Amino acid sequence: MDGKWKIETTAVQAGYNPGNSEPRVLPIYQSTTYKYNTCEEVAKLFDLQAAGHMYTRISNPTVEALEKKMALLEGGIGAMATSSGQAATLISVMTICTAGEHLLASNTLYGGSFSLLKTTLKKFGIDVTFVDPELTLEQLESYIKPNTKAVFAETMGNPGLNILDFDKFHALAYNNNIPLIVDNTFPTPYLCRPIEHGADIVIHSCTKYIDGHATSVGGMIIDSGKFNWDNGKFPEMTTPDESYHGVVYTKDFKEAAYITKARVQLLRDIGATMSPFNAFLMNMGLETLPIRMERHSENAMAIAKWLQNHEKIEWVVYPGLSSHDSYNLAKKYLPNGCSGVLTFGVKGGKEAAEKVIDSLNMIALVVHVADIRSCVLHPASTTHRQLSEEEQIASGVKPDLIRFSVGIENIEDIINDLEQALEKI
Ligand SMILES: *Cc1c(COP(=O)(O)O)cnc(C)c1O
Repeated sequence: MDGKWKIETTAVQAGYNPGNSEPRVLPIYQSTTYKYNTCEEVAKLFDLQAAGHMYTRISNPTVEALEKKMALLEGGIGAMATSSGQAATLISVMTICTAGEHLLASNTLYGGSFSLLKTTLKKFGIDVTFVDPELTLEQLESYIKPNTKAVFAETMGNPGLNILDFDKFHALAYNNNIPLIVDNTFPTPYLCRPIEHGADIVIHSCTKYIDGHATSVGGMIIDSGKFNWDNGKFPEMTTPDESYHGVVYTKDFKEAAYITKARVQLLRDIGATMSPFNAFLMNMGLETLPIRMERHSENAMAIAKWLQNHEKIEWVVYPGLSSHDSYNLAKKYLPNGCSGVLTFGVKGGKEAAEKVIDSLNMIALVVHVADIRSCVLHPASTTHRQLSEEEQIASGVKPDLIRFSVGIENIEDIINDLEQALEKI
């Protein structure tokens, strides 16, 4: 049943199917522990010979319901929740890469992913090369080394909002027998499903639109089940794992090799687990994902057009505008809308930008994006404050840049608040 529904129905109904007289709404199984009848049954669980829950660090029924729903929404064969988007990024890579290996990543990634890949992965001995995603396939291929084990990119970059050329990146990964990992946080599976465009693994910061209400931090890894790990490049997948009595992931779990290894090895050892309560909130958020994303996209498009025609605005960046470099890619891969985040610059530079932000009434200044409430951020004076002005500009953060996460309020109220703030400069 679950797999046959359209996306709006999947968002509401999938993942949890109560039986007779059971709770209609997904219960919060706030339990670390599970009870068994015999030692033999527990032993089978520990040997991964039977399905079931052992301990909430590894799996939990509330979290599992959310994972099933996310896997169906993204068109994957399995999913694993994590404590944050950062944890999803880390585990997605660590499941594949080990010390002495190499990763190729887009240089337009979210700042947190960039520092994780650049600094912390280096401590684990994993080397990352950051490349301009606008390079040609041939140029990109020149960065692939014999020890390159994956390509990492985002459907929509930050803060440039550049759209990934999936055909090119799929070819890059496919030609080299390595998986393509795509962070799909900004579009969500409602606006884009990377697996349909050749991604092998999809990750999310569920903290953003999946929760959608700014209540919980969380992450997700979804496995397409399509990548052939048995190609000689991934011995950890195809040879016995001594920490599980010699389990061979590709042999024992077939198409679910990757997501099983992520859980029973990495989640077990790192412990970056999503709590059952956060999974409950994320699941409730997901139920309205399609209608929220429709409204976010519609409002952001209207705001982008309005700003573009405003005399006090210097520039606007939104992939739904024909002036954006990614406009054609957006039409191809995000035909139903470009999500709710845009950036713009006000005439008068940094000072004017700060004045506008300080003058807003309803639209709040927060260090967050992608929830139902309209909010703004001035990266130059906050998230990118430690960088010099030259470094800020090099990373795409102009002094006048305001990042605007457009909420689902009535469009007239959003515009009125912006208008009165712009009148102050
Ligand atoms: C926020 C974000 C992350 C990190 O997620 P957390 O839940 O904050 O750890 C990763 N990728 C993108 C695109 C993000 O916006």
